[in-house]
Amino acid sequence: MGGFFGVASHRDCILDLFYGTDYHSHLGTVRGGLAVRDDRALTRVIKDITNAQFRSKLEHELGHLRGCAGIGVISDFEDQPLIIGSHLGVYALVTVGRIANLETLCAELFKNRRTHFSEMAGQTINPTELVATLINLGDSFEEGIRYAQDVIEGSCSLLLLTNDGIYAARDRLGRTPVVLARKADARAVTMETCALPNLDYDIERYLGPGEIVRLTADGAETVRPALDAMQICAFLWVYYGYPASSYESINVEVVRNRCGAALARADHVTVDLVAGIPDSGTGHAIGYANTVDVPYGRPFVKYTPTWPRSFMPQDQRVRDLVAQMKLIAIDDLIRGKRLLFCEDSIVRGTQLKDTIRRLFASDAREVHMRPACPPLVFGCKFLNFSRSRTALDLAARRAIQQLGDGDDQLADYTDPDSDSHARMVEHVRRELGLTSLQYQRLPDLVSAIGLPKEQLCTYCWDGAEPCAGCGTHTAHAASTGMHARPCALPA
Ligand code: SF4
Repeated sequence: MGGFFGVASHRDCILDLFYGTDYHSHLGTVRGGLAVRDDRALTRVIKDITNAQFRSKLEHELGHLRGCAGIGVISDFEDQPLIIGSHLGVYALVTVGRIANLETLCAELFKNRRTHFSEMAGQTINPTELVATLINLGDSFEEGIRYAQDVIEGSCSLLLLTNDGIYAARDRLGRTPVVLARKADARAVTMETCALPNLDYDIERYLGPGEIVRLTADGAETVRPALDAMQICAFLWVYYGYPASSYESINVEVVRNRCGAALARADHVTVDLVAGIPDSGTGHAIGYANTVDVPYGRPFVKYTPTWPRSFMPQDQRVRDLVAQMKLIAIDDLIRGKRLLFCEDSIVRGTQLKDTIRRLFASDAREVHMRPACPPLVFGCKFLNFSRSRTALDLAARRAIQQLGDGDDQLADYTDPDSDSHARMVEHVRRELGLTSLQYQRLPDLVSAIGLPKEQLCTYCWDGAEPCAGCGTHTAHAASTGMHARPCALPA
């Protein structure tokens, strides 16, 4: 998916920028980069972080960087930041999101024969360069960013470093968070608020959907007010957000504890030990264990000295190997026990199947699984964190296919009270070799997060998205909730 951090300061900002960006390392595994502006020019550094962490790759560059304003990015795909020369001036740009209509936008731009893309190292157009091209169509940064936000389908939040400060823009539907922070002599903008306390920043406010601000060392000026409709990604709280972070003022770990508590309240199984699949299952498991008053334990521990990262390499075979090497079973906590595991979600299920096999090989008596969210039925088309995944990679979707049903039956499978849903869950349970499997119900997940359903993206689970019939969901959301399909109302 990726994450970014920016600083505008009255003094040199490099250390804040470096560590602030580093606190987004759980969000991406491909590129890490910084761009800094001093009195004379913009300087940038981009490193490949596929085999080593951002910090170790960029640490030795710090001595060469100097400046009072900068932006940094952890990218899961393209090289960034980019430094762009344009009629608006020279600027640096980082983006997070997914441009679903990239090919259409490029085709439109090519029509006038005055556009080209130069960042073609991966043989594909660099999405951040496309965003820069769209911004350059405006008469000002404000107008260009607004235009890019309006024409991009999918999502795009960005930081743009100029001579006059940093423009920070949150995606039109606020799928990713963007947060402003301050300390005595500097202002910062971040996606993850866990980047702030150790750098002495306090949260100032959360940008609204589509909001654009210009940040200087003295404050933030709103250049486009927030829009009404929001679709922040609910999966942030469940899985890929960092436990110490908050979005919309709601802390991730607190939500995970509430998710676990909701799972426990809906459950009737008797077990000896509750555990989390490390790391993101841990918060859910603590919430479960505290609710049922069963000991919480760690039958698996992670070998963190050399396998510290929560996100995995993109190559699936390497991912499976890393997953296997990283987790070490503690037989004394497994042998003869009825174990209940909380997991953030079941995506492909491949690694989980191996984990369950290892538990039974260590003589577990029973293994029960409680994912903190409903079955993943739809691949994400709004963010880039699941780029290589087709919907049929998803364990639940595979089960539906193996049960002989097609896409026209999906709505039935997402109804947790339907027979189809029960058959799908049973199919996944058998595939994984579990004693029992019970997923979180979507209303319980929504209530654990604490935002109204219509402000959350829950597309992964129920296929609901902003209505294509009326163009917006807000007017209808209050009375009808989100539409799983386009409604018949006029635009
Ligand atoms: S589809 Fe899922 S992962 Fe993507 S934005 Fe929506 S909730 Fe998040």
